[in-house]
Amino acid sequence: MIAIDVATAARSLEGESPLSILEWASKHLGSRVTFATGFGAEGCVLIDLIGRNRLPIDLFTLDTGVLFPETYALWRQLETRYGVTIRAVLPEQTLEQQAETHGPTLWTRDPDRCCEQRKVLPLRRALTSGGFDAWITAIRREQTPERADAKVVEPDHKFGLLKINPLVTWTHDDVWAHIYANDVPYNVLHERGYPSIGCQPCTSAIVPGENLRAGRWRGAGKKECGLHVATPAQAKEKP
Ligand code: SF4
Repeated sequence: MIAIDVATAARSLEGESPLSILEWASKHLGSRVTFATGFGAEGCVLIDLIGRNRLPIDLFTLDTGVLFPETYALWRQLETRYGVTIRAVLPEQTLEQQAETHGPTLWTRDPDRCCEQRKVLPLRRALTSGGFDAWITAIRREQTPERADAKVVEPDHKFGLLKINPLVTWTHDDVWAHIYANDVPYNVLHERGYPSIGCQPCTSAIVPGENLRAGRWRGAGKKECGLHVATPAQAKEKP
């Protein structure tokens, strides 16, 4: 692990542009930094910056097997547009194997367990076995109260890595201004009432006035998949 004074880096990078933060990551970490994208609008902005500036940052996505067809189409579109490869990281079990082990449509009965199997454990494997020192995320502080305290650079004790959040200070409008100004490909579902897009079974459209993430796990009392903020079930497991 490279020696970086995380608190000093976080302070000095606060307020810097996302590109400056990505360039800092490339300068200090070289190819030992990876970006896990879920193809949200924010992720598309970061892929645009990484791709256009030829930054040596690894790219991957957690392919749960139940993403929207529109998301799979966007994945290919981004690869073609920027000449990059976005690796697919798969769960240990196929959907059929998961149905045999846990019963069908686990996401309707135990979404925390489903996210653990199809997102959290694959992410852990991808981050801890790939020789990385840091991972980049597309989270923004204003998205949820749980994300409000995120720093530009912070230790991620869960994975033993640095976590770099280039967009933490950006607003929703900042993201879309960048997308329109740079003609960045984005998920067409955003134009159909889906500001936040995850797996197809767990994502619904929102109505005006709702929180932008209100369509995620609607009615399930769940707000996070456990990748950035612990779910209540994960929190209970902590000593
Ligand atoms: S978002 Fe839904 S389908 Fe996707 S991994 Fe989580 S519970 Fe399963």
